[in-house]
Amino acid sequence: MKITSVATHVLDHRLETPFESASMRFDRRQHCLVEIVCDDGTVGWGECLGPALPNAAVVKAYGARLVGRDPLETEKLWQELYNLFRDQGQRGLAVTALSGIDVALWDIKGKRFGVSVATLLGGRMRESVKAYATGSFRRDGVDRVRDNAEECARHVAAGFHAVKIKIGFGVAGDLEVVRAVREAIGPEARLMIDANHGYDVLEAVTLGRLAADYDIDWFEEPVIPEQLGAYRAVRAGQPIPVAGGETWHGRFGFKEPLESRCIDIVQPDLCGVGGFTEMRRIADMAALNGVRLVPHVWGTAVQIAASLQLCASLLPDPPRRDAIAPILEFDRTHNPFRQAISKTPFEHRNGVLDIPDRPGLGIEIDRDALDEFRLKDMP
Ligand SMILES: [Mg+2]
Repeated sequence: MKITSVATHVLDHRLETPFESASMRFDRRQHCLVEIVCDDGTVGWGECLGPALPNAAVVKAYGARLVGRDPLETEKLWQELYNLFRDQGQRGLAVTALSGIDVALWDIKGKRFGVSVATLLGGRMRESVKAYATGSFRRDGVDRVRDNAEECARHVAAGFHAVKIKIGFGVAGDLEVVRAVREAIGPEARLMIDANHGYDVLEAVTLGRLAADYDIDWFEEPVIPEQLGAYRAVRAGQPIPVAGGETWHGRFGFKEPLESRCIDIVQPDLCGVGGFTEMRRIADMAALNGVRLVPHVWGTAVQIAASLQLCASLLPDPPRRDAIAPILEFDRTHNPFRQAISKTPFEHRNGVLDIPDRPGLGIEIDRDALDEFRLKDMP
């Protein structure tokens, strides 16, 4: 079995209603998919977290190395590609692009052996996973407090056990949102807050102390991800568990955060940290250091499929009789690629997603949809 081609598909969709987090405005959704084809006709799909066009350029640079190689040698190929850009590429695009390739190679491996990726990873610990709803971004021209509260109430009414809202715009306004959302969803639903590194330490500590009254499960990315000492200060200064990790890459990037325990919950993104090959090591490191893992997910049906396989394979930690099950981040903002590009779209039932048990990632890509959403003015 040999690789014959590596291609990217940059998908693009202009949003009718733009939205923003504390650090980013979204006018369009763009994602980079990776397609690897083998000489026996097997096709593997992957996805890269982050800016689509730069990812596509890096995948192209890696791709030339892969033609003629054995796709089953996932570890060997990972190390070789990582070493290619290691001197300047220990994190960021060099690793997010590698992630898309690695996910595609594991899809191929699963198809080759006729088993799901979770089976390849060691076994299916579960066949479904509870999802939490990510939403409540800031939108133009609406009252943010009411908008967020109404949206979260809809998610809970649809069956989600937990919702995550966006803060980081300013302590006073954010607290109003937290209060209104808690009131709207009632006392039972779980609530998480995500500042997208919009605060400094003093703001984060102030917000955390005041928001704790509203029973918050975690406080995500309170400060910029480079400042591990600031994470420690936020963790020490307020009572809400601190989460982070969606912008850290590779096992080396997770070593210090995990060993120094600057977070209570680590959120590696399968399509950003280096794919399944590296995620296994990061999951082991999290377990070794007693840090809970909740994967970050922000992408198309390919990323959701891959993250479901990961969730199926995560070991119970601790291994008790009624174990703590992993939960899946399920983005509820407008994104046609979540449904359109897969012939079997992912939808939740009462806030729960089934995990496909078909070969590889367990999805079939709709090529007409890829054509429909392909970035038209690709440079
Ligand atoms: Mg986040």
